[in-house]
Amino acid sequence: MKGRPIALKLVDDGAMYASEAKIHPRETDGPLQRLRIAAVFWLLGMFYAFPWFNWDGRQMVLFDLPARKFHVFGLVFWPQDFFYLSMLLMTAAFALFFFTALAGRLWCGYACPQTVWTEVFLWIERWIEGPRNRRIKLDAAPWSREKILRKATKQAIWIVFALWTGFTFVGFFTPIRALGGDVLHLQVSGWALFWIFFYALATYGNAGFLREQVCKYMCPYARFQGAMFDRDTLIIAYDEQRGEARGARSKSVPSVLDPARLRVRSTAAVSADAGTADVDQRSLGDCVDCTICVQVCPTGIDIRGGLQFECIACGACIDACNTVMDKVGYPQGLIRYSTLNAMQGNPGRVLRPRIVIYAVILSVLIASFAWAISHRVPLIVDVLRDRNALYRVTPEGDIENAYTLKIMNKDHVAHRYIVTIDAGLALAIGAGQDQIEAAAGQVVESPLTLRANPAAAQGMHPLRIEVRSVVQPAVRYSEQASFFGPSP
Ligand code: SF4
Ligand code: SF4
Repeated sequence: MKGRPIALKLVDDGAMYASEAKIHPRETDGPLQRLRIAAVFWLLGMFYAFPWFNWDGRQMVLFDLPARKFHVFGLVFWPQDFFYLSMLLMTAAFALFFFTALAGRLWCGYACPQTVWTEVFLWIERWIEGPRNRRIKLDAAPWSREKILRKATKQAIWIVFALWTGFTFVGFFTPIRALGGDVLHLQVSGWALFWIFFYALATYGNAGFLREQVCKYMCPYARFQGAMFDRDTLIIAYDEQRGEARGARSKSVPSVLDPARLRVRSTAAVSADAGTADVDQRSLGDCVDCTICVQVCPTGIDIRGGLQFECIACGACIDACNTVMDKVGYPQGLIRYSTLNAMQGNPGRVLRPRIVIYAVILSVLIASFAWAISHRVPLIVDVLRDRNALYRVTPEGDIENAYTLKIMNKDHVAHRYIVTIDAGLALAIGAGQDQIEAAAGQVVESPLTLRANPAAAQGMHPLRIEVRSVVQPAVRYSEQASFFGPSP
């Protein structure tokens, strides 16, 4: 199907901002819409439910900023665990590269918070104000008792939902049950109240009013995603070759993909059973110009004009057009996931080197992250040397070095640790210093003195200090240090 290229309009061709009429997206159904609904339930379900679950007696997900500890599924992350956060960010970045290069704006269409919350606000709007045509009529109608009632009810539910969202958001940073009690007793702290209202306002404003304006004018991803696209990236595309020229037609006119229709086109003869078909209808493509693909679009664009940067790849137009194609008895796929190369009949492949490289890097990052988390030791030990003296001579004539062990028990249970020394000379640990206790999440500083015979202690001796849990020997941490004696 070589022919005219489909239009690709990835940049805005007008002013920085254009005031637009309110969009009333039409309801649609289909596999992609059901996938979007599942994504909304899954993602928002996690957001609203996670803070209410406990794990090992603690809130399952709690970012305790004052204590500088992040509790996530029974693991406690400290500021020293920045490594895991950087790995997570790298994984997220490569996931974005991979999925965008593979299938365009999957993130925008199915997982972006702006998309999922807007979807819920739209559900509420449809529930209160009815389907698209009723909503348009209601907005255009003068204020009446019914209009005030419907609008006020919608606003009230939106506000409650937004406040609940703000409350849940703050519940990730402060124990949510205690926060709930404070709210019920009207004893919420000033900062908690500020963030509840701030996040509620952001949700209400972005998902209730700004909606597609956020995607069009505020989101930077919409502007640079073009750099990650190539001619083999899966995009949502209207098959212009098949669809044009568009127009209404008799139901008896077959699809252009139907061999019978091709015969009709080639002979310019009207099929006998096509009764009402006329010369114009024989030249039509498969688009019946019902504009339903435009009506369902949450950003209000017409995908038949080519790929546009406003398209968030939600797939609603695919589902809608497939429904129309079913109704008129044409094959589905007039709007479909495709690539620029495929739409122009050029050779190309979705699994290209770039995708494979991204996939390999992403797999390695995910595997490394999983390995690092599963082998994570909830213990950090710092060894600090006594800065006042390199060594000292004890009354017994031994050479003694002094250190401080800083032990951070990152576990959610208390530990008793054993201290052992691995060195090239015999070193004795000071009395009572070989065992240290630390409560869950406690940082303990403990003195450590090491003694050696003066005959063996001359010069510098590298050593390793190992701290090991008594009941869980796998919880161990070792640090390098040095033992100094007099110069030989
Ligand atoms: S839904 Fe399909 S048939 Fe209807 S206008 Fe859009 S592309 Fe054409
Ligand atoms: S054109 Fe509109 S409906 Fe179609 S995928 Fe893009 S945003 Fe969704």
